[in-house]
Amino acid sequence: MSFKPRFEPSEVTLLRLLNARMELAEKDKQRYQRLVKGFEGEVMFDALTEKLQCRSNILNELLLESNGSKFQIDSLIMTQEPLCLFEVKNYEGDFYFKNDRFYMLAKKEKEIKNPLLQLERCESLLRQLLQNLGVSIPIEAYVVFINPQFQLYQAPLNKPIIYPNQLPRFMEKFDKRPSQLNGFHKKLADQLVSMHQTELPYGKLPGYDFARLKKGMTCAPCGSLQTIVADRNLVCEVCGHMEEIDHAILRSVVELKLLFPDMKITTGVVYEWCGVVGSIKTIRRVLMQNYSAIGKKEYSFINLK
Ligand SMILES: [Zn+2]
Repeated sequence: MSFKPRFEPSEVTLLRLLNARMELAEKDKQRYQRLVKGFEGEVMFDALTEKLQCRSNILNELLLESNGSKFQIDSLIMTQEPLCLFEVKNYEGDFYFKNDRFYMLAKKEKEIKNPLLQLERCESLLRQLLQNLGVSIPIEAYVVFINPQFQLYQAPLNKPIIYPNQLPRFMEKFDKRPSQLNGFHKKLADQLVSMHQTELPYGKLPGYDFARLKKGMTCAPCGSLQTIVADRNLVCEVCGHMEEIDHAILRSVVELKLLFPDMKITTGVVYEWCGVVGSIKTIRRVLMQNYSAIGKKEYSFINLK
């Protein structure tokens, strides 16, 4: 089990909710798809690191700050020695390497961000952070290309890159390292987790307001807004998923609060938001049963019973 688990980035969650309820601009759609793909790659890597048997603390997704610079670590695996830093890339398709730069093969001369430079920056900032903590432990850093459909032509030798076909062997070798963890490692892992920062993504999102977002209830697994209420269930017309209506209403309130953190939750607002619930009495009953009322009309999200 990981010492620090990975969660879906809140920007991905919010963009998914917005994508169901408004027409995203092309650049926002692309950003959403890129973020989803990146996250999927990290989850694929987690599936491998979770299988490790060697004594290690696995810290996933850390946002740290060192000497005024923020940096994100996809995965950090702490063994007795060293500390292994992984930058995970879920690139798919054909790429080539030329003069220390990465290019996509399909799009002529389309340069992409050099993951080796990202890794270098990350490693250097982590080293500084550890120095400031007075901690001395060697660091190893790797770029992992996780997608089996990734191919790099003119691949450089002697660079800290792990290609998809090398991953099984790398993990096997990694697992054989002798490793004993002690109080020092636990303390350092705790310190790093406590230094993890969370960034609110609202500033990066496209503009949106309540009035202009499509109303309705999303399907939990597929995210579609094409849902109807039948008997006491929310039924998805796309994937067929059924969810008990009370549960679906509460989930919709959570989505509403996520999109509009400052909004007052009232029966009327939730009724309008859900759209497909025929009776406002159902909404009132669910809110009354699950939230504490403030005044006559408002229900505070904080006072979830
Ligand atoms: Zn569905």
